Amino acid sequence: SSFKDLPLCEIIRGNIELAKYTNPTPVQKYSMPIVMANRDLMACAQTGSGKTAAFLVPVLNQIYEGGPGDDLASEPPRQYGRRKQYPIALVLAPTRELACQIFDEARKFAYRSMVRPAVVYGGADVGGQMRELDRGCHLLVATPGRLVDMLERGKISLEKIRFLVLDEADRMLDMGFEPQIRRIVQQDNMPDTGIRRTLMFSATFPKEIQVLARDFLHDYVFLAV
Ligand code: AMP
Repeated sequence: SSFKDLPLCEIIRGNIELAKYTNPTPVQKYSMPIVMANRDLMACAQTGSGKTAAFLVPVLNQIYEGGPGDDLASEPPRQYGRRKQYPIALVLAPTRELACQIFDEARKFAYRSMVRPAVVYGGADVGGQMRELDRGCHLLVATPGRLVDMLERGKISLEKIRFLVLDEADRMLDMGFEPQIRRIVQQDNMPDTGIRRTLMFSATFPKEIQVLARDFLHDYVFLAV
């Protein structure tokens, strides 16, 4: 099968071509229709399976198609100024390396669109990252600890989140991020499961991940590739 068989919008189609992806990997092929049908997803997929594009492509496609988050169309493409940022998509990842890889991939698929991706992670200067956020932040990639810090500083609000992705969820739990993840997802102003779509990716599906899926996802589709 090819990306041409999927009902993707022109911006994303062009950006997939620029990235030189011709055929979707299995996780991409199966996850895209699920996300495009506005279902929650629990996907078991390994690193290297193409899981990053498996969530970025359909999430950005839904945003471009004017589904959830369509208020973006009325916003200016850049939001300068030192103010609070309201991302509409949030991707949580366990490490700085993975967060930066996801951000790089997001930049490719957001090219020539109004969607501005941003990344924040621990172990680096907070001030610099806050200034970067001021360039605009519609799709935020974050490690859990640094995001909690940004929330506490009042730099980011999650009240406009329409898509929440937990990538490498099992690794985030192994690294002890469960309290931070629960604080983020169970924030008072995080839209509930009726409004936001939630996608979880994990290499394994042990009891602890099943519990997270039960707590964070709504009527989800389970995919193992
Ligand atoms: P990931 O599993 O998301 O970390 O992706 C692993 C690598 O495969 C990354 O370097 C991607 O850029 C690349 N990749 C993902 N999907 C495709 C595709 N459909 N065609 C070619 N390369 C891909």
